[in-house]
Amino acid sequence: MQETNKNVLLGSHISMCAPDYFLGTVKEALSYGENTFMFYTGAPQNSIRVPLEKCKIIEGQKLLKENNIDIDKIVVHAPYIINLGNSIDENKFELAKKVLKTELNRTYAFGCKLLVLHPGLHIGQGEEVGLKQIIKGLNEVLKEDTTDVTICLETMAGKGSELGKTFDEIAYIINNSQFKNRLGVCLDTCHINDAGYNVENIDEVLDLFDKKIGLNRLKVIHLNDSKNIKGSHKDRHENIGKGTIGLNTLKKYVFNEKLIDVPKILETPYINGLPPYKDEIKLLKE
Ligand code: FE
Ligand code: FE
Ligand code: ZN
Repeated sequence: MQETNKNVLLGSHISMCAPDYFLGTVKEALSYGENTFMFYTGAPQNSIRVPLEKCKIIEGQKLLKENNIDIDKIVVHAPYIINLGNSIDENKFELAKKVLKTELNRTYAFGCKLLVLHPGLHIGQGEEVGLKQIIKGLNEVLKEDTTDVTICLETMAGKGSELGKTFDEIAYIINNSQFKNRLGVCLDTCHINDAGYNVENIDEVLDLFDKKIGLNRLKVIHLNDSKNIKGSHKDRHENIGKGTIGLNTLKKYVFNEKLIDVPKILETPYINGLPPYKDEIKLLKE
């Protein structure tokens, strides 16, 4: 058991802020006992981004090396404002592509390989129109991209007109893309619960994922409990062991041997203004 624990890739999302930026995120992750993590290269809600020269990238990379942390497993999350599913406002669609392009380049500049992206919203135009627009957007961005970053499409709860709420929708995007080799998937346990999957039955979930998408595409796990019941389409994360999914089920995702190389990232809420990650990681590894 001790041996397995060491190899478990477990971390949390961390915001990158002044004055230490990337170096600061690495320090924060280490302080929680993490051996991987996810960060936003600026605020998740907007596209304002600090210039790379200020981000202390070299210093952060050095600290990662000193701690034997594999930078290939560190995850970047793209800003939420990107909606490649927008088929009614040309300007907003173009802006989404521009922001995604910038984020791919920034991810590459940090030395990271995985960029998580919310697939998009169809905003009233129906699933098929939205999915086709997302495919178009990804093709247009990746056609000009010169990085080797994998875009990991996140499984979504299906709140509002969110796409990517089923494995079929994710598979449809990937299978119809011109750049399949640049696409992977981020599986969020809270989101698939809220989307209606039997998250507690990990074998069933992984078999279905493998059948529909292919397990080789699974690059990131977002490990969250949920405030709501299966199929609620709500997307409200709960602290580990305090929600409808529960500690036992979440532990299955931490220790499953098929997921051994997949980084698991907590996106659980702060408790009384404090980050819960050190305690939650300990709890999950117990
Ligand atoms: Fe996300
Ligand atoms: Fe997530
Ligand atoms: Zn969420």
